[in-house]
Amino acid sequence: MFTDKKIIHLGYSGAGYDPSPAVMDAIMESLSKINSYPYEGYDELEGLIAEYCNVGRKNVMVTNGGDEAIGIITALYGSRVLIPAPTYGEYAYLARSRGAEIRFSNSMHGDTYEVSFSDEELGWASLVWICNPNNPTGTIVPRATITRVLENTKATVVVDEAYYEFSGTSVADLVGSHDNLIILRTFSKGFGIAGLRLGYILASSEVINRIRNAKQEFNVSRVARAAGIAAMKSRSYYSERVEEAKRVRDDFERHCNSIGITAFKSNAGFVFVKFRDMGEMEYVHSTLMSNGLVTFGPSDSEFSGLSGPYVRIALGSKNDMERAKSEISKAVADYWAEKGRSPENKMQLQEPPEAEG
Ligand code: PMP
Repeated sequence: MFTDKKIIHLGYSGAGYDPSPAVMDAIMESLSKINSYPYEGYDELEGLIAEYCNVGRKNVMVTNGGDEAIGIITALYGSRVLIPAPTYGEYAYLARSRGAEIRFSNSMHGDTYEVSFSDEELGWASLVWICNPNNPTGTIVPRATITRVLENTKATVVVDEAYYEFSGTSVADLVGSHDNLIILRTFSKGFGIAGLRLGYILASSEVINRIRNAKQEFNVSRVARAAGIAAMKSRSYYSERVEEAKRVRDDFERHCNSIGITAFKSNAGFVFVKFRDMGEMEYVHSTLMSNGLVTFGPSDSEFSGLSGPYVRIALGSKNDMERAKSEISKAVADYWAEKGRSPENKMQLQEPPEAEG
């Protein structure tokens, strides 16, 4: 990539804003004891998370990012893994690395992402993944779909709520009544500390104990633990930042739609865009890359089962997104000018399902 412009990473989706001042102070303070293991354990952090999620203290376990949880869950439950595609690539990547059998259930019907497993698929699986909201489409999986899956399979069902702070949608309240449910969350997105690697799972106390026995004793660092505790105590800071980020996201979606490329309605910290054809997508994606704007296209390993003229653009700061808007507009206009014709009318997306509380 050769450019004299500032490189902006809108590929991996972290947060387009800084951690709270309290989190930064806690990180700095934790460094004074960096020569010792985090031997005090994770009780305080897990207690704060339990309160945040409104679940019992025994229903929480912290992990080294959500990805650590995906690895342990796959090792314990994933001999036959059912994945609704397109979705987050780590489920298949870690299943494959452990020699699991994998089935992808095509969940993209035209322009609608809709999870609908057959009884046969649910009978076959030992582990089912549901990403809610889904990465990369940003779509909410309705609560009724999740309860139907939970009640029609003996498999362990993981609902990945990595983007919960953006969607406000959760099935955490079902943890008490469904022993086959695990919820996965992270501090990487709404709480903006992706670089520290902190996530957690919510599940029945039996499942939590089983997973606890399979993890490293000190899976979360002293620094990440301190940051997580401070983040749980700075929730109003974060909810304001998330609200601002959602406004920037919605403005970005409107911009895409106004220039004839189609943004899916996102419930997450990124925007999923469909171009008119593969030529336009490839031209814009590679032009953005050459100009220092990193985004994810369909062939990126971040996703499983994604094909077609799609690009996922993670939310950056307001300024980053202003630059992305103008670079995309210019690239789209240049592409059609080079082809010597104007683009056909933009495609209409079907309405995605309504978000639920
Ligand atoms: N789930 C989804 C849907 C994600 O997008 C990510 C991050 N890319 C994760 C889980 C894992 O997040 P982390 O390991 O940073 O906590």
